[in-house]
Amino acid sequence: MTTTPPTAVTPVDPAERVGTAVDGVDVLGALSPSRVGDFLSCPLLFRFRTIDRLPEPPSPAAVRGTVVHRVLEQLFDLPAADRTPDRAETMVAPAWNELLDAEPALGTMFDGDGADVVAWLSSCREVLARYFDLEDPRRLEPADRELYVETLTDTKLLLRGVVDRVDVAPDGAIRIVDYKTSSSSPPEFEGKALFQLKFYGLVIWRMRGVIPKRLQLIYLGNSEILSYEPDEHDLLATERKVQAVWDAVRLARETGDWQPRKGYGCTWCAHQAICPEYGGTPPPLPERSPDAAAAQAPDSSSG
Ligand code: SF4
Repeated sequence: MTTTPPTAVTPVDPAERVGTAVDGVDVLGALSPSRVGDFLSCPLLFRFRTIDRLPEPPSPAAVRGTVVHRVLEQLFDLPAADRTPDRAETMVAPAWNELLDAEPALGTMFDGDGADVVAWLSSCREVLARYFDLEDPRRLEPADRELYVETLTDTKLLLRGVVDRVDVAPDGAIRIVDYKTSSSSPPEFEGKALFQLKFYGLVIWRMRGVIPKRLQLIYLGNSEILSYEPDEHDLLATERKVQAVWDAVRLARETGDWQPRKGYGCTWCAHQAICPEYGGTPPPLPERSPDAAAAQAPDSSSG
């Protein structure tokens, strides 16, 4: 039996999908945590995704993340008493069908006989079931889910993203929650894992004038929760880091020097064939103004 490779799709950041257009607004550019992460792990990968906007084959792991996030969002539409593991399980297939309707190319991830998709849906249910080991959604009433947030820095850089869940306590304390369908990182990489949440903490602080009390990563891959209480110092440091990344993006744009950085992430990179580290040659940079490209380009993901 021959296997048809999945049809490549242009990755679109959720922040771009729901964000306000930045055309005509006086901004330098836009960054989301995912795009900052791309640049920090490999500037050339950032270029391929953000400037060239090269399509990538969909990955079952990433799409599983999208489906599980969708179910966890919809779960809180139900009356509290109905937010049970059994009910959540029934929501997986409809969430997948909804995604497939919106992006039919995702169906090419699986072979025609249906066995792969059945096994994959089962893996989605397994990951989702772990959520109920960590939280009881019947006892929660989130203030927001899949919340688009954005703020403009003093340097006219638009920071934006989509927060999985925001909880607000009766005393006004804010908790930012992010679901990861992967497993937790080793301690030495915790800072990297928390960066995304500090980014959201910074944006919400700028938007609401309140520093979130708690940042919480819920790892459904291995049933762990990572919590962190940020302070002003943390969030100002995050702002400086994001600005430094933007300055480096601008320098790469001016010089045309988008350095590849070989590392662990290469294992999953869809662009090895055109990467100099693997003997490939990147395509010429597109004619379009890189500033405009970066400003309009995809910025997260679902983890
Ligand atoms: S293969 Fe590795 S070094 Fe090359 S673009 Fe991808 S992530 Fe960067």
